[in-house]
Amino acid sequence: MKYDVTVIGAGGGGYPGAFRLAKSGYNVLMADPKGELGGNCLYSGCVPSKTVREMAQLIWRTSRVLKQEIKVNFERIQAHKDFVQETRFKQHKRELSEYNSITFYKGVIKIKDPNHVIVKTEDKEIEAETRYIIIASGSEPFKPQFPGSEYCITSDDLYSYKTPLRKLPQDMVIIGGGYIAIETASIFNILGVKTHLLVRGDRVLRGFEDEIVNTLLPILKLDIIYNAPVLEIKKIKEDEFEVIYSSKDGAKKSIRTNLVLLATGRKPVLPEGIENTGIALDKRGYIVVDNAMRTNLPNVFATGDVNGKAPYFHAAVRMSIAAAYNIMANGSPIDYVDYKSIPVTIYSVPSASYVGIMPSEAKRMGIEIMEATYNMEDEVMAQMYDEREGMLKLIFEKGSLRLIGAWMVGVHSQYLINELGQAVLHGLTAKQLASFADQHPSTNEIIAYAARKVL
Ligand code: ADP
Repeated sequence: MKYDVTVIGAGGGGYPGAFRLAKSGYNVLMADPKGELGGNCLYSGCVPSKTVREMAQLIWRTSRVLKQEIKVNFERIQAHKDFVQETRFKQHKRELSEYNSITFYKGVIKIKDPNHVIVKTEDKEIEAETRYIIIASGSEPFKPQFPGSEYCITSDDLYSYKTPLRKLPQDMVIIGGGYIAIETASIFNILGVKTHLLVRGDRVLRGFEDEIVNTLLPILKLDIIYNAPVLEIKKIKEDEFEVIYSSKDGAKKSIRTNLVLLATGRKPVLPEGIENTGIALDKRGYIVVDNAMRTNLPNVFATGDVNGKAPYFHAAVRMSIAAAYNIMANGSPIDYVDYKSIPVTIYSVPSASYVGIMPSEAKRMGIEIMEATYNMEDEVMAQMYDEREGMLKLIFEKGSLRLIGAWMVGVHSQYLINELGQAVLHGLTAKQLASFADQHPSTNEIIAYAARKVL
């Protein structure tokens, strides 16, 4: 078998590029052990977790505004989550069927050498020759080992398709302080679970701008225990655990809980055989790529979580398309990914989002900035939902008044950040943002309102 391009993994980093290549007549080989398109994002990550989040938000919003308790039926919420996943699996199957030149297997791909791969399915192994390879094998939860760590679940167990976890615990301990830990605590608090975060160090959301974290945390009111590394988990009985951790003064403390979630980061998933190819990895084990998605081997590209650049589905899709274009240009790049213009959102309730260069970074880079803010107290949708906490900040380069970054905490931040990301990517100025008539009533209006403040 001879293929133009082999795509390893059918997540956001894989199938969009495969589709683009097939559209231009390339013969593409693609495989994924799930036998479905969408990767971990659809199978156990962003889509199912945000389905649960949306349901939680609806319950919360309605119960707050109507001032009446709404009984949470988690079984139904999980069933709806499965339905959304199924709907998207079917949609992707339909999309895949439109491309005759993609051969898709349920299985894993092993790299034999940069021009030969082996597809391993349940019952056979197929060797194929390939001109190019796109490695899009993603990432998986990192699970630190300590006594009793086997009792922990990960977010994959909460959200995977048809997960057996359909009953809410009364109490949940979340180990970790990254965005998955914060989102899960926020969502499950709303669903009526008492959550506690055990954080090893003295801060959460490392890598996020301090002022975003300092705006978000007081709104979320989470129970966060800092400087609390977990030492051991003991099983008391079915659905009851004792989580023993060390407190700041070195004393041992413990919490009794019904469920322990590990949210301690992710690690790359590398295809078998990669060690024999000479592909360069960084010290965390991610594949090293440039902005054109090229590895150090001229015919091998790596997109999505596996390169550790921006571990989000939408970033993976952007990278996948760039790899496809650069392969079509015969490996001589025509498309570069601007990571800075890729928005990031913490899907807590309310959400927090940012894009571009943050004020502290601008300072480090020696860029003089002008800031404009808008308080959610005065925002019309926030008033309708009676969720008036948070703010928007626009960051302009002084002089040119070009938007170089923005962050927002509050209602609909995940939507506004797209418009703001477009503005950062295309270098729009305060004047251009201010002269746009955003739909009324919509939260987006505050972008123009804030921009007008610096003119
Ligand atoms: P990304 O967003 O970067 O595409 P995901 O983790 O969502 O990342 O998807 C990666 C997909 O790659 C997963 O569905 C995973 O099962 C699949 N995968 C991992 N290793 C291999 C492999 N060796 N061959 C084929 N598919 C793989």
